[in-house]
Amino acid sequence: MKVKLIDLTRQNKGIEKGIIREIKNMFSNVSFIMGENVHEFEKEFAQYIGVKHAISVGNGTDALVIALKALGIKKNDEVITTAYSFFATAEAIAVIGAIPVFVDVKLDTYNIDENLIEEKITNKTRAILPVHLFGNPCNMKKINEIAKKHNLYVVEDACQAVGSTYDNAKIGSLSNIACFSFFPTKNLGCAGDGGMITTNDDKLATICKAFRSHGSGSDGKLAYEYLNGIDVPKEASQDDDATIKNNTVYNPMKYYNYLIGHNSRLDEIQAIILRAKFSKLKKWTEERKRIANYYDKKLEHTNLVLPEVEKNGKHVYHLYILQSDKRDSLTKYLKEKEIATGIYYQVPLHLQEAMLKYGYKVGDFPNAEYLSNRTFAIPLYVGMTKEEQDYVINCLKEYDKNGR
Ligand SMILES: *Cc1c(COP(=O)(O)O)cnc(C)c1O
Repeated sequence: MKVKLIDLTRQNKGIEKGIIREIKNMFSNVSFIMGENVHEFEKEFAQYIGVKHAISVGNGTDALVIALKALGIKKNDEVITTAYSFFATAEAIAVIGAIPVFVDVKLDTYNIDENLIEEKITNKTRAILPVHLFGNPCNMKKINEIAKKHNLYVVEDACQAVGSTYDNAKIGSLSNIACFSFFPTKNLGCAGDGGMITTNDDKLATICKAFRSHGSGSDGKLAYEYLNGIDVPKEASQDDDATIKNNTVYNPMKYYNYLIGHNSRLDEIQAIILRAKFSKLKKWTEERKRIANYYDKKLEHTNLVLPEVEKNGKHVYHLYILQSDKRDSLTKYLKEKEIATGIYYQVPLHLQEAMLKYGYKVGDFPNAEYLSNRTFAIPLYVGMTKEEQDYVINCLKEYDKNGR
């Protein structure tokens, strides 16, 4: 039996027709940029996460870059983050000239070790950037306590963790600002690139809106004033409703630019797809948990190391990660059985070629390095059949029993 690591065609069932109808509407309305669906999706997403503002952007990496810039983080500022994540986490810090300061991870949850953060804080540190890796929340209580004590911002990289919770609050609502990705394979994915920023802070929301669209218009002007500490009268901070509701109306403010920003908006076509999928997210997340719990139960008495959930957290299993000291031969064996696996991540961030200029070396983060030699993901996706799950389980057990 052939089992893919992720089969995205399964989740299209039941939503395709509605999406195509909406896309046809979009074509006849010629509303491609910042249309009705983008605004509605932002509202729905903010409500789901439990925050005041959701600002859509072009992708998850831009969400991180814009969030860091919105906090005023600049060249040579230090941002503390995990050594074990997707490259974009560290890239977003580096691309604005700030310095990624890595911290090792915990061997049980694979997330940043909150007990190693404080020793990395210097007078240049501005923020902590935890990543809820694979959908498993970080210890936000401790991280927020450290941030408060040292007067630092917290930026959540929630790109893999839409829907997960910590202390019964949604990931993305527990920090100054949080970032999501809608890359197709993420738990909520579009048909291309997309991202979202969430925050409860009105000023940060305005600054993010400005940065995603060339730092122009009334948002750009306000953002400039906020970032430069200029007092803004309360009534000025209202949204420019005419430009939001109807972007075909000529808005003279649009061509006044106040900040060096980005062109990073969520496309209307992606918003249509995301709204359709979003209505299923709760159900899909439950399904992921059911499959993960089934794997947990069936693989319990093997030599494989199973995923552990952060205390007080709920995991959404963006990826189901196992550990084996025979990873290479095991994944090769699974490949022979036509079961796909993936390795996340073979190179920890501090050892990536592009990060070498920060001066890290092998041995600096032993847990991240250990995991990068042992972890692999097995198939888990919405619509995966029981037969497929059992086949994966049986092949894993067979390998385990024969001790190959
Ligand atoms: C996917 C991902 C990103 C980047 O998202 P894109 O939408 O691909 O730019 C950032 N951080 C983590 C942890 C991710 O998994």
